[in-house]
Amino acid sequence: MKEIFINDFNENIDLVVTRVKALLINSKNEILLEENNNTYQFPGGHLKDNETIEECLQREIKEETGIDLTINSKPFLKITCFYKNYFNTGKNVKSIIYYYDIYSDKMPNFEETNYDDLEIQTDFNLLYLRLKDLKSFLIQSKEDGTTNENIANEMLLALDTYLTRKEKKMKILVTGGLGFIGSHTCVELLNNNYEVVVIDNLSNSKIDVVDKIKTITNKSLTFYNEDVCNEEKLEEIFSKEKIDAVIHFAGYKAVGESVKEPIMYYENNLISTLKLLKVMKKYNCKNFVFSSSATVYGSPKSLPIKEDFPLKTTNPYGTTKLMIENILKDLEASDKDFSIAILRYFNPIGAHKSGLLGENPKGIPNNLMPYIVRVANKELDILSIFGNDYDTVDGTGVRDYIHVVDLAKGHLKAIEKVARDKGLFTYNLGTGKGYSVLELVNTFMKVNNVDVPYKIVDRRPGDIASCYADATKAYEELGWKAELGIEEMCRDAYNFIKTNK
Ligand code: NAD
Ligand code: UDP
Repeated sequence: MKEIFINDFNENIDLVVTRVKALLINSKNEILLEENNNTYQFPGGHLKDNETIEECLQREIKEETGIDLTINSKPFLKITCFYKNYFNTGKNVKSIIYYYDIYSDKMPNFEETNYDDLEIQTDFNLLYLRLKDLKSFLIQSKEDGTTNENIANEMLLALDTYLTRKEKKMKILVTGGLGFIGSHTCVELLNNNYEVVVIDNLSNSKIDVVDKIKTITNKSLTFYNEDVCNEEKLEEIFSKEKIDAVIHFAGYKAVGESVKEPIMYYENNLISTLKLLKVMKKYNCKNFVFSSSATVYGSPKSLPIKEDFPLKTTNPYGTTKLMIENILKDLEASDKDFSIAILRYFNPIGAHKSGLLGENPKGIPNNLMPYIVRVANKELDILSIFGNDYDTVDGTGVRDYIHVVDLAKGHLKAIEKVARDKGLFTYNLGTGKGYSVLELVNTFMKVNNVDVPYKIVDRRPGDIASCYADATKAYEELGWKAELGIEEMCRDAYNFIKTNK
């Protein structure tokens, strides 16, 4: 967090604010300024003894919204003003401009602010700047004698710098970026002005995904048709591109296949990760986001599943994920410059609404949604539902299905997190709500107005009755939560298969 100290503010605060305001308005509403005439107004009387305005702000927001800013928020920007007339009160009187990115949806409606009526009060003001994605904002402390005009100019300069930097966001290496989740994540990254470099060996994806991503975003990306296990190629790529952060999707993911071909799974998933981390360390690129899975929880002791639940795997695929998680813990402990987010996905389904990107497994699908869409599309005759005697709402298995676009957005939040804070962070990415197989099938038929014949067969070995996330940690620390519901998941999944018939 950066701070701006403004001394001797009594004279003409309007000048500063008016000029900053002009810039804010010109920045296409991405930055919005709120005056103190809102629910969080701070007349001095609200300050308790020995309480700073900062503490007062935190306390009052907590009283009103229940949000504990002290624990969960990191203001990016604080503007501190000292007022002459409060110097002798013994209190640390400040006027603060705060940006609480992740709680912006709970803040007052800034969009409705009438900037022309912006009025500055004589005692002190609480201003909110809502600066989307602001990473840093630096104005040095001022010495005595600085005029407000100087300060205003510096603020404008800093905002300009911020806006220019915003245009040029980090360069992200996405391994496995042409796959199901990777391709949707590339779209979100490009839409948010990140530069994107993809490595994919096309073992489970097609080259035309590159053009589809470009069509959707109208932006370009750099693609390397390479294997992440190839250390030499990785070195070439890292020395050529200046990679700021890596999202590591590349790997094999089919549970059944991993039971039959464990060596292939351990080799690809572990070696690719080890080589990647080794090269990242060498090139001093230490921001890492890893695709893990809810499978690391094995059969959970209770529901919903929290990140600190015991970990236990039941198949080689899951074991590769758990082993990589452990490798990442050791790495982070050994090198505190690393910043790592482990994302444990629940059941990603759905597709991009354009119909261009989605899940298209080779051969007969193992997972439920790809199977449903093929039955609906008459490529397969009938869906087998694996068991209807579980202890669930209707006897069929319950899972936490999450729209792949929501999941992709979670990666952007994770990138912001690793860019902001050092350490190792683990998050469940799910909706927090479970649906049974029958509920999913029935919703699919209803929203798409299509028939999906099914039969009940024996349980699938290894399946558990229910699995769904407690996703509050991701919400509290990343400001991420799933927005799209099961209807959208069903609609978009079917739209993809129809479009690509
Ligand atoms: P996907 O198979 O569609 O995508 C993986 C991509 O990685 C593919 O494009 C493949 O060609 C590529 N790849 C594989 N090995 C590679 C290598 N050695 N070098 C370069 N490229 C390689 O899978 P997905 O569903 O998009 O999953 C992405 C990640 O998320 C995987 O690590 C997976 O284990 C994990 N995950 C997926 C799910 C899910 O249900 N889809 C759930 C939990 C976790
Ligand atoms: N399932 C099913 N028929 C299928 C595939 C899956 O009934 O053809 C059920 C499975 O038993 C589980 C749910 O659908 O209860 C989700 O399975 P999937 O393989 O998609 O994901 P998992 O949670 O097992 O990784």
